[in-house]
Amino acid sequence: MITRFAPSPTGPLHLGHAYSALLAHDMARAAGGTFLLRIEDIDQSRSRTAWEDQIYDDLRWLGVTWDGPVMRQSDRLDIYRRTLNQMWWDGLLYACRCNRKDIQEAASAPQEGAPMGPDGIVYPGTCRNSPEDRDHYPALPPADAALRLDMSTLPMGLFDDGAAGFTETGLNPRRIVVTPDALMRDVGDVVVSRRDMGTSYHLSVVLDDADQGVTHVVRGADLFDATQIHVCLQRVLGLPTPTYHHHDLIRDDAGKRLAKRDDARAIATYRAEGATPHDIRQMVGLPLAE
Ligand code: GLU
Repeated sequence: MITRFAPSPTGPLHLGHAYSALLAHDMARAAGGTFLLRIEDIDQSRSRTAWEDQIYDDLRWLGVTWDGPVMRQSDRLDIYRRTLNQMWWDGLLYACRCNRKDIQEAASAPQEGAPMGPDGIVYPGTCRNSPEDRDHYPALPPADAALRLDMSTLPMGLFDDGAAGFTETGLNPRRIVVTPDALMRDVGDVVVSRRDMGTSYHLSVVLDDADQGVTHVVRGADLFDATQIHVCLQRVLGLPTPTYHHHDLIRDDAGKRLAKRDDARAIATYRAEGATPHDIRQMVGLPLAE
């Protein structure tokens, strides 16, 4: 078993992160497996090395030890770019220059709300073009546009072996089937490269989990809806699909999920107030470490 914790260094770790890290760590340790750490810092406008350092410090304090070197997404931009180039040459992508307002206007029929997917409004396809148009594509994808995966051109048979989907072992254990129809309807042409990043959360997480050999993805239930996108990309890229374990979210006293800016729940705040790692385990309902 190989699990991982993949925080973004855009704020302090809070109780929800501690729960996620401890759960993935304990699962790997109990199975005699491997626990890996990955820093998801593709959003350079929000990532800070000071937050990254704080993550290492908080994890060590919690008793979370990771195996091998830390993977940092900012070191892997070339890998993401090479994959995107290949997808572009395979005719799976198109360039999109719509902004949020364009999408909103094109998507909402009068009187009714636009359908929502894991990344917001399901893209109405404004910039989509035909496979013939793609014969005239420039050799490399334009750097000044987002790149979308054209769900309607997924290779025939890609999902036909009856195994497309994922096993969910977390909150509600079951087998989730992923089909092209559901992807087209519920997700739409997902952005695989943002203009400002040269990649996207979805593409990076899929490539990284595969390169790190992750067998069990442990993460919050807020990412459950994104997992069908990840399964889709794994199929497109010929990568294995791990088992997924989406855990409950830690909420504040009012029942709201914790946000990064909720400094009151930051591990650093609890530490400063004299809490012990055992206290944190108790707060998130995990068995105490021996
Ligand atoms: N970097 C993501 C976050 O901090 C987690 C991604 C994942 O676990 O797949 O929310």
